[in-house]
Amino acid sequence: MMAAIAAAEAGHRTVLAEQNEKLGKKLYITGKGRGNFTNAADIGDFFDKTVSNSKFLYSALYGFSNQSLLTFFEENGLKWKEERGGRIFPESDHASDVTKALTKALQRAGVEVRLNTRVVRIVTEKGDSADRISGVRVVTERRAKDKQYGVTQNADAGGEFLAADHIIVATGGLSYPATGSTGDGFRFAEALDIETKTAYPALVPLETAEDDIPQMQGLALKNVTLTISGGKKKVYDGFGELLFTHFGVSGPLVLSASSRLTKGLAEGKQYKAVIDLKPALTEQMLDERLQRQIAEYRKKDFSHFFEGLVPRKMQKVLAGRTQIEPERKIGSLTKDERRRIVSLLKGFSFTVTGTRGFSEAIITQGGIAVREIDPTTMYAKKYKGLSFAGEVIDVDALTGGFNLQIAFSTGYLAGSSIA
Ligand SMILES: Cc1cc2nc3c(=O)[nH]c(=O)nc-3n(C[C@H](O)[C@H](O)[C@H](O)COP(=O)(O)OP(=O)(O)OC[C@H]3O[C@@H](n4cnc5c(N)ncnc54)[C@H](O)[C@@H]3O)c2cc1C
Repeated sequence: MMAAIAAAEAGHRTVLAEQNEKLGKKLYITGKGRGNFTNAADIGDFFDKTVSNSKFLYSALYGFSNQSLLTFFEENGLKWKEERGGRIFPESDHASDVTKALTKALQRAGVEVRLNTRVVRIVTEKGDSADRISGVRVVTERRAKDKQYGVTQNADAGGEFLAADHIIVATGGLSYPATGSTGDGFRFAEALDIETKTAYPALVPLETAEDDIPQMQGLALKNVTLTISGGKKKVYDGFGELLFTHFGVSGPLVLSASSRLTKGLAEGKQYKAVIDLKPALTEQMLDERLQRQIAEYRKKDFSHFFEGLVPRKMQKVLAGRTQIEPERKIGSLTKDERRRIVSLLKGFSFTVTGTRGFSEAIITQGGIAVREIDPTTMYAKKYKGLSFAGEVIDVDALTGGFNLQIAFSTGYLAGSSIA
């Protein structure tokens, strides 16, 4: 949408082809339906929040920054507010208002929007120095959803030919495919011999090995630290909220961590995760706290030891991990056992074995290789008249509004750069 707006504002006759029956299906579910569409951080900080190929985004992010985006939305009637961590949302808390503002801008700019219109092929012709784009083939209405009309190189594939001097591919990645991001952009690239990097689900929940993790399903831990390492190398370290699920772990800390593990996990590596359940206490402070617990609970069975120390769902799991008999009297705990409990609370560990799939991933890591694209214009290097924008490119960032800003910035650059 942003690419089309920028292209039309630059004076080009612009058609936006969207295979869905409406615009912005994915936008609608962003930020839990509230649409965290950018971040108030200094634009320079966006690069630290970008996981893959941050340098590629220099022209895009500086050319159309978060401040430019906010001005753009204000001009199109969207009121916004800032929340914790600089996250910016529509004032109404409705992500659909972001799409409404974009729709207004599309109309103002004179973009012709064609819904239920799926591009199945990018058509090229021989040029003097490089091949150039001559248009696209599209299938419409019900046929857009028909698998029979997959992306194809077959010139006789049917559908309607739309002539165009320039095409911007902004088809998204593979995450939440029900929203329309089904990976067509990667298939176009493949058909055109443009390199793509392997796609992995990222910002995604993690699967774990230990049997006792699913027992805590539904439990959310706040204010904990999570450290993840592969062999001796620490790959992630963060503080915040984590959620146990029937398959492993999720929640903000885990989603952020996942983006650093995707490739390794796909290659069959396993990672050790450690939660510090009491990050505000030193080992000595915690040991003193446990001594008070022991004095108070002296006559009770060990099965009651963790009461008041950790949430209820976790008490049995922790007691199980100590391997201390549940019937032992708390008063009989030895100093060594107490120290082991301190270590357990400061370092509750488990093994990460995999990620969940694309249907649960907020973002796709991988995509069109950045070396195929000119970062100052978003032009494909191999063809005249072709550009890429958004998640289809091999760039991804952490949560907080950074991914949508990347989509808007690269979209704006792609649209405004068309000669
Ligand atoms: C659950 C969830 C929550 C998220 N929350 C946030 C958030 O709060 N903040 C944030 O910054 N990011 C968030 N993201 C990430 C963000 O939504 C994406 O990074 C962003 O939408 C990418 O924009 P895009 O335009 O590149 O792709 P998309 O938004 O995926 O749009 C691509 C469009 O192209 C259409 N299309 C695909 N192929 C074809 C074809 N062949 N012909 C015609 N049309 C086609 C699709 O139907 C789709 O409408 C979230 C993602 C998910 C899944």
